Amino acid sequence: MRSVRWSVAALAAVVLVGTAWTGTSGAAPGVGSEGDGTQAGATASAVPGAAFSVDQIPGSGYGPGDRVVALTFDDGPDRTYTPQILSVLRRYGAPATFFEVGYEVAARPELTAALAAAGMSVANHTSHHVDLTRIAPSAWASEVDVTTQLISHADGQVVRCLRPPYEAFNGSVVSLAAARGLTTVLWTADSEDYKRPGVGAILAHSLLNLRNGAIIGLHDGGGDRSQTVAALPLLIETLRARGYRLVPICGAPPAPTGITNQVYGFGSAPAVGGPLPSRAPLVGGAATPSGAGYWTVAADGGVFNFGDAGFLGSEGGRVLSAPVVGMAATPSGRGYWMVARDGGVFNFGDAAFLGSRGGANPADTFVAVLPAGGSGAGYWLVAQRATAG
Ligand SMILES: [Zn+2]
Repeated sequence: MRSVRWSVAALAAVVLVGTAWTGTSGAAPGVGSEGDGTQAGATASAVPGAAFSVDQIPGSGYGPGDRVVALTFDDGPDRTYTPQILSVLRRYGAPATFFEVGYEVAARPELTAALAAAGMSVANHTSHHVDLTRIAPSAWASEVDVTTQLISHADGQVVRCLRPPYEAFNGSVVSLAAARGLTTVLWTADSEDYKRPGVGAILAHSLLNLRNGAIIGLHDGGGDRSQTVAALPLLIETLRARGYRLVPICGAPPAPTGITNQVYGFGSAPAVGGPLPSRAPLVGGAATPSGAGYWTVAADGGVFNFGDAGFLGSEGGRVLSAPVVGMAATPSGRGYWMVARDGGVFNFGDAAFLGSRGGANPADTFVAVLPAGGSGAGYWLVAQRATAG
C-alpha cells in the first residue's frame, strides 16, 4: 500500500480538483439511483469478501447469532442534515456508521470529528462518489486513499471499510479495497430514503430483510434528507422494540472477551478481589474511604466491586452515546459518578447529578471526573480539546 504523506491542505486540494458530484438527488447524473440494488443483487454471491451483514465484517466481534443491527448513513457530512441526524442518534444513545464522501469531509472536517467524538464510526465512500467499477486502479489513490487520509486526519481513527457508491462493485473492487485494509460493505436493506418516498415508506423499506446482523442503508448527505431525519426516531424505536441492539460497524474492533480485572496492591493497600472477567476494556476505578475496597469500571459502563465497595448500579448492557472513561467515588463511599468521553455523567447511590457536558461541545474529549473535596457536593470534569495547527 502506498504511503500518502500530504498535508491536510494538499489533501483538500486534491480532493476538490476534478468533477465534484453535486448529489442533489442522491444519484450522479446519468448513472442511475444509488439504491436500485440491481448490480449488488446480481453479483453478491459471485463476489466473495464483500460484507452484507454485520457478522460478515472481519473483526466486527459479532456472529450470526447476535441480535444486532447497524444503521449506516451515506454521502455526508452535510452541514444541514448530518447534525440533525447526529442529534437524534445522541438522543437515543444509538451508535451508527457514516460512509463519507471525501470532498464533503474536506469542506467540513469538524462534522467528521463530531461524529467520531460522539461514538459514531466513520468510513470511506470515495472522494467524489464515483463508480469504482469504471475507474482505473491508478485512480484509487485520489478516490479512495485520499478520503481515508481525510477522515483519519479529521477524527484520528483508522478507516476500515469502503462502501462503493451506486452499489457498483465487483471482484476487482473488493480486492483493491482489501489491499488497502478496507472491507467492502454493502447493506441488507436499502431504505430508499434518497427517493423521498415519505416517512412510512422509508421505515418499511428499512425493515425489509430484518434479521440478526442487518445493515440498513440511509443517507445524511447528497440532498434533502429531512424525511430521513423524520423517520429515524421511529426506526430506532421499532428496531429496539423488536429486540435489536444498534451497533456501529467498521470502527475499532470490540475488545476481545476474556479481559480480566486484576488489581495489584502496594504499601498498606490490599488487593481485595480476585480476577474477574470483563467484556469491555477497563478504563478506571475508585476506592472506598476505608481503603478496604474499590470499584473498577469498563468502557461499556460496567462496574466491578471488590472488598467493602458496594455495587450501586452500572450502565453495563445499555447503549451509550460515548464510552465511559472514568469514575469517582463520593466521600461516603456509598455512591459514584462515571463520566463518558462526550462529557455525559452517570450517577449512582448517594452521588448527586450536578450537571454534565454531555454533547455540549463535540471538540471536547473527556478523560476524568474528580470529586471536589469532602462534601460530595461538587465535581470537576476533565476534558482535552485538540488545538489547531
Ligand atoms: Zn452514496
